[in-house]
Amino acid sequence: MLQLFIPLGFLGIVYRQIKYALADMDLVVKLLARVPEVQDAPTARPLCLNAGGVRFEQVSFDYQPERPILRSVDFAIAPGEKVAVVGHSGAGKSTLARLLFRFYDVTDGRILVDGQDIREVTQQSLRAAIGIVPQDTVLFNDSILYNLSYGRPDATSEEIERAAELAHIRDFIESLPNAWETIVGERGLKLSGGEKQRVAIARTILKRPRILVFDEATSSLDSRTEQAIQQTLAEVAENHSTLVIAHRLSTIVDADRILVMDSGGIIEQGHHRDLLAAGGTYATMWELQLREREQQTTEEPVPQPG
Ligand code: ATP
Repeated sequence: MLQLFIPLGFLGIVYRQIKYALADMDLVVKLLARVPEVQDAPTARPLCLNAGGVRFEQVSFDYQPERPILRSVDFAIAPGEKVAVVGHSGAGKSTLARLLFRFYDVTDGRILVDGQDIREVTQQSLRAAIGIVPQDTVLFNDSILYNLSYGRPDATSEEIERAAELAHIRDFIESLPNAWETIVGERGLKLSGGEKQRVAIARTILKRPRILVFDEATSSLDSRTEQAIQQTLAEVAENHSTLVIAHRLSTIVDADRILVMDSGGIIEQGHHRDLLAAGGTYATMWELQLREREQQTTEEPVPQPG
């Protein structure tokens, strides 16, 4: 009987290994499926990066020709400026970030970085200039050290520690039993939404890009974590051209300009104050979110004494 158990046990191990390998393959296939090939032009040269100004010039885009997503979107982010995009789910906000990173090419119009059409520069140089803090950060099944530094493998341990400190995650990492060597990801320690965002922020700090894109998480974090993350983002974004894709209007009241998107176009833009005063779509969205927040507060259970 024992003779039978040993091979069965061995088969179990092999099965698990194949399953993990397939899970990784599945992820790779999904990523490849999501990111179609965008080729460098034969004449592509490295981006000549100056102050990091961005311009979307009459940009139209569709994933499938029968369903237009963006229609003549036109806006600029001056060097150092913070521009926020709001709009209902599916309005095309994250698509702006995907186009800027050149995961896809525009169908019409053009995107310029420091005056250069991004289709005419190498993808490598373009992507080196842009740091994205995505909605949901993908962690590798590896140490937290690897996860922080993979964007810049040549970073020194001092640089990594400093980035973690700026992202307010260093104390958390050092409090773990295996500290920097702690395995995270699906098969390791599961990090909370806020912790994952901090890892993404630390990666971005290490990368030191001129242009930043923050794709705010749809699901809200608890308000203390949210405030701390916002504070960190504000510190990192200082003097960077920043595009914030926002779901909670409270996080972008300080933006230099807010673009309101609807059905793939910009329908309003301006500062928070001006948009409120205009009494249009933004003002209605603001009212709605205020009311939702009030409702949540009144629905929260009142702590009982004792
Ligand atoms: P949310 O606030 O929910 O994140 P969003 O405004 O960022 O939404 P996008 O992610 O830009 O919206 O998507 C805009 C539209 O494009 C949606 O209708 C979406 O279904 C569609 N879309 C997004 N990615 C793809 C894709 N890879 N292929 C086809 N359609 C897509």
